[in-house]
Amino acid sequence: MAYQTINPFTNQLIKEYPSHTQADIDAALEKAHALYQSDWAKGEIDQRLPVLHKLADLLDQRTEELAKIASEEMGKLIAQSRGEVQLCAQIARYYADNAKQFLAPVRYPSDLGEAWVEHHPIGVLMAVEPWNFPYYQLIRVLAPNLAAGNPVLVKHASIVPHCAEAFEHLVREAGAPDGAYTNLFISSDQVSAIIEDDRVQGVALTGSEKAGAAVAAQAAKNLKKSTLELGGNDVFVVLDDCDMEKAVKVGVQARLQNAGQVCTAAKRFIVHEAVADTFLEKFRAAFEAVKLGDPLDESTTLGPLSSADALKTLTEQVNAAVEKGAKVLTGGKPVDHKGNFFEPTILTDITRDNPAWFEEFFGPVAQVYVVNDDEEVVKLANDSHYGLGGAIFSQNIERAKRLASRIETGMVYINSLTDTAPELPFGGVKRSGFGRELSDLGIKEFVNHKLVVIS
Ligand code: NDP
Repeated sequence: MAYQTINPFTNQLIKEYPSHTQADIDAALEKAHALYQSDWAKGEIDQRLPVLHKLADLLDQRTEELAKIASEEMGKLIAQSRGEVQLCAQIARYYADNAKQFLAPVRYPSDLGEAWVEHHPIGVLMAVEPWNFPYYQLIRVLAPNLAAGNPVLVKHASIVPHCAEAFEHLVREAGAPDGAYTNLFISSDQVSAIIEDDRVQGVALTGSEKAGAAVAAQAAKNLKKSTLELGGNDVFVVLDDCDMEKAVKVGVQARLQNAGQVCTAAKRFIVHEAVADTFLEKFRAAFEAVKLGDPLDESTTLGPLSSADALKTLTEQVNAAVEKGAKVLTGGKPVDHKGNFFEPTILTDITRDNPAWFEEFFGPVAQVYVVNDDEEVVKLANDSHYGLGGAIFSQNIERAKRLASRIETGMVYINSLTDTAPELPFGGVKRSGFGRELSDLGIKEFVNHKLVVIS
């Protein structure tokens, strides 16, 4: 697909970006591999960390400029774009401050002698990233791997080339040496050829199940490690003893943030029947109070979807759900307005034979299910192919903790939406993928845990 910036609020083509050639790819691989073999990658970590400190400072200084690029390119509300850039600065600073400790040797008591595990880089990595958090998805891979010494090649989504380019410039300005981070405007087939290359030792992908399965299969065929962060169909559980005002307020944010295009967005609201009427009334009122508009306008509370394709897919999913018996409590269709807007929508009465039961809706569409007890919460929550995050709202923390332990996901938040922070591991189970990003776990995905024993 061609790399283009199309403003999703106006659907105007802003700029086309030429694809990289095979010669560009060869040069990028060569430089990345040369860097991996250098003392910069294999030597002391102290020489790499200043790049991350500088990158964090640059992200802070350029927040406004970078935020505007993202909002114009994929439709994120400007305040949320600023928040994303600032989170990126925190992630860069977190690894700058903590990577040395995370990668320090670990001693293993053993009868065989004095033993320890060292952490070494493994080589060039290929990252394939999506458009929904066009900077955060990049820094999640770059920051830990730059600290660890793994050079990174990146194929960003074809609808966010301006973000891809701006981020690469910033990394370069922060002092990253040639080959440490290279953005490539390339096709899926070219990604596949890069994965086959002997110089590449790992692949990280965030995106759809389809892309994840394709890339993981290519990695497996070439005996290379992969991490996948794919879709989610996260539950947002509203128990009968919750703080209702908070549950509604956070629930709306959890579903509508980033126009609903978040892998960990609350997608299935599971509500205890004792509070279902109250919740639905308040939830619906909040959805109907949303202000659609230009993502650059500070007063807008819901922006457009990222592309005309995304709007088409979501419209087809909602139509199919309704045909199979789902009821529309509010919304239900694209907005008759320029740009890729879909009405904030609440669907109820979804039965298990409805395709919507198992599908991820990547947009402002909430599904609501009413249950009678906690057993039903667990059964419904786990009746999903996905297992990414989830949220439970209850004032009885012990009860919420019991439920959290039983929900089959990589993350559960109690009395909060599923969030992210540099120090917390991020990732899922089942068809949401495998591996973790961020925290101490994220930096250890692509390192050689090398055992040394003196007997
Ligand atoms: P994709 O998975 O198609 O895109 C994500 C990235 O993967 C892009 O860089 C894309 O490139 C690339 N890609 C796609 N197919 C391949 C392949 N076979 N080999 C190598 N790279 C590939 O997601 P979409 O943008 O099409 O969104 C579709 C759905 O995916 C969403 O509705 C949502 O369900 C899920 N999704 C989940 C995300 C998450 O955060 N977990 C983020 C985005 C999407 P290109 O842009 O050039 O196609």
